[in-house]
Formats: sequence, structure tokens, C-alpha cells
Amino acid sequence: MPIALSTWKHGFQPNRITYDAILSGKSALDAVELGARYCEADLTCMSVGRGGLPDATGEVTLDASIMDHDGNCGAVAFVRSYEHVISIARRVMEKTPHVMLAGEGAERFAEAEGFAKTDLLTEKAKALWQEWVRQPDKMHVRLRREEEGEHEYVFVKVGENGAESEISRDIVSKPRNESHDTIGILAMDESGHLAGACTTSGLAFKMQGRVGDSPIIGAGLYIAGGIAAAVATGNGELMMRACSAFHIVEMIRQGAEPEDACEEAILHIRRDKHLTDDMQAGLMVIRADGAWAARSLRPGFQLAAASNRENGTEGANILYNVTADSVTNDK
Ligand code: ASP
Repeated sequence: MPIALSTWKHGFQPNRITYDAILSGKSALDAVELGARYCEADLTCMSVGRGGLPDATGEVTLDASIMDHDGNCGAVAFVRSYEHVISIARRVMEKTPHVMLAGEGAERFAEAEGFAKTDLLTEKAKALWQEWVRQPDKMHVRLRREEEGEHEYVFVKVGENGAESEISRDIVSKPRNESHDTIGILAMDESGHLAGACTTSGLAFKMQGRVGDSPIIGAGLYIAGGIAAAVATGNGELMMRACSAFHIVEMIRQGAEPEDACEEAILHIRRDKHLTDDMQAGLMVIRADGAWAARSLRPGFQLAAASNRENGTEGANILYNVTADSVTNDK
């Protein structure tokens, strides 16, 4: 019963790649890595891999994690100059006794493993960063992805309560489409094995050295073979404090339905005393029997889902908009 789920609109094509890889006989682990690599190389996606937006100092730093059915996992954080961090994370999992390598150590490991160095900062990302640097009070200025024009961004000023006001263009009362673009991919292969991958450049213009939820096993990604696989993304600090991916999988282990497990994880995030109006959390899960669900803190979260149950058509890949109600596909 192959299934693939990927976060956000730019996850649509990676999800297709992941699903097709499974149909062609690849393992869930190989398939999620392939999907993630596609996104890392996609320059139109400005929050994953090469082309990602830089940190406050103008440097692009990448985080990634990968986990398989048997509880093996690998992660890298604060990696500069290497595009395919998901594959470096997999190499950490397969070739070292460790779970995570960060910064220079991770980069030296990548070099020793033969990964090619590359300049991650594109002209477009650099121009947006230069515009951000020029903003007065820039630490309270963020980028927001525009609803139309998939890859267009506007600058917004964030007030103390988290409310946003647009500062560079005069567009009022539009639905928010946050610039959270981490890709998280979950898959189940023909043998029922689960795997997952997360890869990101993290929040745009983050403090130098900041690491988010995506490379943290249990926060951005968690798999328990035979039980469930979960991804969480959005404002990473929320999921790091709540251990959201682990929370969802453990709820399912205790008998919760996928949508109830997501709902419970959202309730937990809602209790975070640092939560503000501009923050988002997007969660998705596949249970071992193939039932899946997704839920978000606020409308605006999207995910691509491919399975033979989507629209009843074998191989259909569908983009879902997650509203305040969960999206569910029961077994
Ligand atoms: N979850 C990511 C992080 O906090 C950001 C994102 O999804 O945009 O690093």
C-alpha cells in the first residue's frame, strides 16, 4: 500500500518522485531521499537546499534529518556549502555511530564522503537578504510568501503580539501564506516499511547558528516502524519545545486515531507560552495500516498526498489545503 506525503505546495513534485520511486520498487528510505534531493536542487524553492534564504549574516545554512522503519536516524545542522544535506544526514546514519553532526564537523564529514561543494546563495536570495538588511528595525521584519505568485515575497513587520503589518507594498487583508517552506516527506513502501526525511534552510534571516526543528529527531521527524511516521514543521521552536513528531507517534502507539493524535499535538502547541499570532505549525502522520492525517495550527498549511486511495485513482498525487479541520484519509 504505497503512500507518500510531502509538506507544502513545493512538495507536490517531490511527492510524485517519492511515490513513483516506491511504485518502481524502491524502499521508502530511498524514495524519501530522492524526493528531498529534488527539492534541495529546486532553485524556485527558497527555503530548502541551494537557493534557500540566508541567515541574518547573509550565509545560507542547511539542516536535515532522515529516519527509517527500524529506528535508524541521521541528521545534520548548520551545514554551509553542501546542497544535498539529506544525503549527508543519511550517510551520518549509515556510516557513523552518531545521530547528528553540526557545522564544520558535518562539513568535513561531507567532504571526506565525497560530496561536492557548492555556493548555496543565489542572486535572488542575496537580493532579498540585502533588502531585509536595509529595513529599519530589521529583527522585527520578516518575509511572507504571497498567495499569488508562488515564489513572490513581501516584507512584513511583526508587532509584539505577533500581528503582522505589511511594509513594502500596499496589500491589505489578504489571507496569510507564511514563508515556512521546509520540506518534510513521509512514505510507506510496498512492504509496509515507513521512512521520513526533512530538509530546510530554516527560517529566513534567522540568527547565525540558529537550528530549527527539522534536524531534531522527535521534533520535526519521528518514525516508529509498525506504529506510525510523523513530520512537524512551521516555527521550529514550537515543535522543539513540544517534541511534536514524537508526541503524535506515541499517541498512535497508545491507540489514538491519526487525526486525534495530530489534534492533541496541536493542543499541546497551543499551550506554548511563546506562541504568537504569526506562528504556524503543520503536522502530518501515516499510521502503519496506511491511514493518514494532517492538521495545522492555522489555515494555510498545504500538503501533497499520493496513494491509491487519493480520489480512488492509483497513483493520484493531490495537493490538500489544510484548514482548521484536519485532513484525513481513513484506511
Ligand atoms: N520548521 C523550519 C524551521 O523552524 C522552518 C520552516 O518550516 O520554514 O527551521
